[in-house]
Amino acid sequence: MRSVQLKIERLSKTYPNGVHALRDVSLTIAPGMFGLLGPNGAGKSTLMRILATLQEADAGSAWLGEIDVLRDKEAVRRTLGYLPQEFGLYARATAAEMLDHFAVLKGVTDGGERRDVVRSLLEQTNLWDARHRRLGTFSGGMRQRFGIAVALIGNPRLIIVDEPTAGLDPAERARFLNLLSELGENAVVILSTHIVEDVSDLCQRMAIIQEGRILLEAEPQGAVQALRGRVWRREVPRDELRAFEKAHPVISTTLVGGRTVVHVHGDAPPDDSFHPVEPDLKDVYFTVMRGIGIGDGEVEPQPVAVDAAPPPDDPWAAFRRPGAA
Ligand code: ADP
Repeated sequence: MRSVQLKIERLSKTYPNGVHALRDVSLTIAPGMFGLLGPNGAGKSTLMRILATLQEADAGSAWLGEIDVLRDKEAVRRTLGYLPQEFGLYARATAAEMLDHFAVLKGVTDGGERRDVVRSLLEQTNLWDARHRRLGTFSGGMRQRFGIAVALIGNPRLIIVDEPTAGLDPAERARFLNLLSELGENAVVILSTHIVEDVSDLCQRMAIIQEGRILLEAEPQGAVQALRGRVWRREVPRDELRAFEKAHPVISTTLVGGRTVVHVHGDAPPDDSFHPVEPDLKDVYFTVMRGIGIGDGEVEPQPVAVDAAPPPDDPWAAFRRPGAA
């Protein structure tokens, strides 16, 4: 299999109620884990659904290698793994039965091959021991891992995971992120989330989206670097917070041990009551969301090697259908 990139150009979408969900979105996404970070209502699901061929765009283009994503929907579906925000499952079916069913739908018609695929996916997602349990008894984390098993059938080149960790407890979330981190050597994996840590833990590249616009496309670490020396911290009494926010470029306000701590942006501390902060991706996110550029360190997208030589070891080779790309 050759690695391909996803090239999205000037994608726009306006809903009939007049909401501009996407405005001129352009992104070039190489194989690997890409984080699409933004608050609720930013347009993430709209973009994910368009790429998953479930919704039409008004304008723009999207190419997955040679595949015209907006027009050649069948070709996209053959190579797409999609884990939507919400997915319905037959609560009474067992994990193994359901996965087998989805494998048939994806075209794995040979019984022996399907058994191997189902077994391998259940093992990979750590659900082998639960294979005979009914899906209705699964925890949130198990459901999400099952969703990934379904998304991985057929060796997809484009994997879309929409808000996967919302609602998971910390242990389930850690297990799920570990699983995701094993994907995406060869495939383009897009992880849409409003949780900054999902991106900092997992993604080599990211974009921040707000009100349908891409505000920043960067490498998380590079963006954090670019903000160094520009974030300052101070405790603020709660009754002074309003006035403080008016007077300073506040990027975030958090409670730390019951005290209100604010981070402000600036080339120098506003006065000597402020302490320097070693910024993290949250500071980047809130800075960008407040409409403050992250300065001359803005990270340019790196050139991407397209259609490079096939990777040396391909863990999916054993599962590929003859003749499949
Ligand atoms: P996100 O996934 O980032 O939360 P969405 O793509 O779901 O964002 O939504 C983007 C904007 O489009 C929001 O303002 C939302 O209310 C609106 N929206 C989403 N789906 C529809 C729809 N089917 N009809 C009208 N407006 C919609």
